[in-house]
Amino acid sequence: MKDIPGLFGSQVFSDAVMQARLPKDIYRALKKTISKGTHLELDIANVVANAMKDWAVEKGATHFTHWFQPMTGTTAEKHDSFISPKNDGRIIMEFSGKELVRGEPDASSFPSGGIRSTFEARGYTVWDITSHAFLKDGTLYIPTAFCSYSGEALDKKTPLLRSMEALDKQAMRILKLFGNTTAQRVITTVGPEQEYFLIDEGMFLKRPDLIYTGRTLFGARPPKGQELEDHYFGCIKPRVAAFMRDLEEELWKLGVLAKTKHNEVAPAQHELAPIFSTTNIATDHNQLTMELMKTVANKHGMACLLHEKPFAGVNGSGKHNNWSISTDTGINLLEPGETPYENAQFLLFLVAVIKAIDEYQDLLRVSAASAGNDHRLGANEAPPAIISMFLGEELTEILEAIEAGTAYKSKEKTEMEIGVSVLPHFPKDTTDRNRTSPFAFTGNKFEFRMLGSAFSIAGPNIVLNTVVAEILRQFADKLEKSSDFKGDLAKLVKNTFHEHKRIVFNGNNYAEEWVVEAEKRGLLNLKTTVDALPKFTSAHSIEVFTKHNVFTEGEIHSRYEILLDGYYKTINIEALTMVNMVKSSIIPACLAYQSELAWLLERKKACGEFDVSVESHLLEKISKLSTSMLKSLNALENVLIEASKKDKVFIAMSELRIVVDELETLVAGKHWPFPTYAEILYSVV
Ligand code: ADP
Ligand code: MG
Repeated sequence: MKDIPGLFGSQVFSDAVMQARLPKDIYRALKKTISKGTHLELDIANVVANAMKDWAVEKGATHFTHWFQPMTGTTAEKHDSFISPKNDGRIIMEFSGKELVRGEPDASSFPSGGIRSTFEARGYTVWDITSHAFLKDGTLYIPTAFCSYSGEALDKKTPLLRSMEALDKQAMRILKLFGNTTAQRVITTVGPEQEYFLIDEGMFLKRPDLIYTGRTLFGARPPKGQELEDHYFGCIKPRVAAFMRDLEEELWKLGVLAKTKHNEVAPAQHELAPIFSTTNIATDHNQLTMELMKTVANKHGMACLLHEKPFAGVNGSGKHNNWSISTDTGINLLEPGETPYENAQFLLFLVAVIKAIDEYQDLLRVSAASAGNDHRLGANEAPPAIISMFLGEELTEILEAIEAGTAYKSKEKTEMEIGVSVLPHFPKDTTDRNRTSPFAFTGNKFEFRMLGSAFSIAGPNIVLNTVVAEILRQFADKLEKSSDFKGDLAKLVKNTFHEHKRIVFNGNNYAEEWVVEAEKRGLLNLKTTVDALPKFTSAHSIEVFTKHNVFTEGEIHSRYEILLDGYYKTINIEALTMVNMVKSSIIPACLAYQSELAWLLERKKACGEFDVSVESHLLEKISKLSTSMLKSLNALENVLIEASKKDKVFIAMSELRIVVDELETLVAGKHWPFPTYAEILYSVV
């Protein structure tokens, strides 16, 4: 039996390690810097760096790296060794406070969207002191934020930290109004559930589309998909179980609270969820989780697919961003609570979130937009592109009663007069089971379900934190001036719900009627990434982000460029991969089979009396389809050449795919150059 508590966090320069290894005054100073978010003095940094290095070297490390999250969506690192030369030709292992606190990676190879031209390529990485350093593969990793010489954020972490600060500031104002004197800070917490596919590595390596784009660009439907739903929560196959065990251990060593694992709906699909933590740490940990999923899968002879839609016609993978707000004293502000004082505060935070989601639907949608996720949203496997909120029947009825000023009849049929200070107790379980809503209240947190599986969770949380901070600011501005706090609070809750209740929808989000109903309510339906992204640079977006110092206007424009550019690049790579697969493998396969059929046909005819209906039927059909394939291929190549036709590439790709997928069902298996869906999806036994 392994010592799991001993294993947990063993590769992390954690609070316990710091406490044990740092002089008391240094430890206290560091803790103060962490909790207050103040500047770290260099003399303290020097001592911390040295202790970190000693700890790392004892554990076999030779290098350190500033680990950061550029706009590519993955993480980046540049390794430096601890060695430092001595006069006598030998070396010592050294690590200074300066090296710990700040790094200067060459920023020119990371996307900046025009903020920084390559000739002024200096970028800084700065230690995110609230996220612990850790050891991986003989290197000490220091979580950092990444910005340009002039201070613009070049990464996802900097604005995330800024958004957490914005929410902290505004939520603290509200807590003070409720007489809270104990909380020092308000933080947002996140638990991201991560879906993924596991397939055999041998199959993966035979599919250029999976290798280059992460998804299959061709593939006829398998005879057995997910119809029987026998995979969901089904027993986990031994090879997968071994992978999961290994993955969990690696994650635990890094202090990631991996908690639940199970099969998902589609064959070969699984999920892992951690216990929630502070948002920036959850973000770091989710990046580590995705990275380790891939490396551990490789060790087990498998490939982990994190793409949102690896297989057409089979459920894709998403990520559920469970989000809440809590005080540093551990009080969850979205917990309905038992006492009137807590109820009123809960209701205020609740209607703040309702208003924020309604007013900033567009930004939430932008935060879930990507080429990969376009395949899922609205496809009856993930929420539609329309943002709405699920509150559950009871909470909705309570808010409606407050709005109407009427009595609320609970499930147990007891009637009560309710106002903001009286909230009937309602059982959490009844609120939790609408799986189709993009944004669902699940008892004491919200679950944002639109994220794609490959996403960094930074973007959606930047938006959530900022828009909720903005509404809390409006509320605080109003209530701080009030001479009748209770009365104005009650009015505010009532009016806010009244004005924004259109965003609440407890029904089936997959139903076609909802699309019609949502339009009547005036809700946005931004179907694709191309529809959604421009909202990011709207005046209303710039206003909210700049007001809370989350993004500068320049940062917004540059990020928009990066996102749009990334979108078109993704589609372009997919299209080129398709062209290549068709030309180099699929056309030759079709020709080979046709030649075999033609030969047989000739032979049979030469012999006289045989029935040749099968051969001639197949030959004719494949020949005709091959002609259409060639036409579609040419059409795709044409739209690829002209930049002005880039919006047509996706359609041309779909047209080519239809023909090729039909050919796959006709051409003899031995000629077909790629493993089929059935072979891939059932490759892990
Ligand atoms: P389900 O599959 O029903 O959505 P799970 O238990 O798999 O539920 O996932 C719920 C996730 O929500 C977990 O990661 C959990 O840690 C997280 N969570 C629970 N409470 C909070 C909270 N207050 N803030 C953020 N996340 C939370
Ligand atoms: Mg969930």
